[in-house]
Amino acid sequence: MPSRRVGLLGGTFDPPHVAHLVVAVEVREALELDEVRLVVANDPWQKSALRQVTPAGTRLRMTRAAVVGVPGLVVSDVEVRVGGPSYTAQTLRLLREREPDTEWLLILGADAAARLDTWRDAADLFDSCTLVVVDRPGTPVRVPLPPGAAPAERVEVTSLDVSSTDLRRRARAGRSIRFLVPDPVARIVEREGLYRRS
Ligand code: ATP
Ligand code: MG
Repeated sequence: MPSRRVGLLGGTFDPPHVAHLVVAVEVREALELDEVRLVVANDPWQKSALRQVTPAGTRLRMTRAAVVGVPGLVVSDVEVRVGGPSYTAQTLRLLREREPDTEWLLILGADAAARLDTWRDAADLFDSCTLVVVDRPGTPVRVPLPPGAAPAERVEVTSLDVSSTDLRRRARAGRSIRFLVPDPVARIVEREGLYRRS
């Protein structure tokens, strides 16, 4: 009998925003999880091939700032410590070794779930965790999961059409990101002049 049920919400968090937090909080509540860990990718290889990704240390600081005072949400630096390109299947193997009594639930927005077949060793994930898919505005509600994927749980969360891509664009244009990210995150973006240059 697993002693703890832990949700993992992996991401680039460049920057973390309110939809990430709403997903984490609402899935935790709906599935009565002990905690949800926001796992900050060290090198999101699919993205870093296409654009300049903010250094992992900065994304980690922003994500930590985002969850301060939120019960049940924690930030995991496991992928940053491992270094190199981040593969969720590898991360999950490591976590299972370290915390064998934990039941793992992998939380994915529908856009991420639709791309599971591009992940390295995705099939390994299906044996070792439960997939939890949440809707994301702009992605069809019933995304097909790759063959072999265990039936995923679906959790309905408050629909928020917010993305880090749009936030970076706003910051670059000198527009406000207030209320779309927690205030401490907005302050870091402002103070460090993030996203000003692409
Ligand atoms: P980017 O635009 O840079 O890809 P993002 O907003 O998609 O950023 P990620 O860090 O890529 O954020 O996402 C991490 C996880 O959070 C993914 O599973 C993604 O589907 C989910 N997610 C992000 N934004 C939302 C949202 N608005 N609604 C539901 N899920 C979301
Ligand atoms: Mg994304």
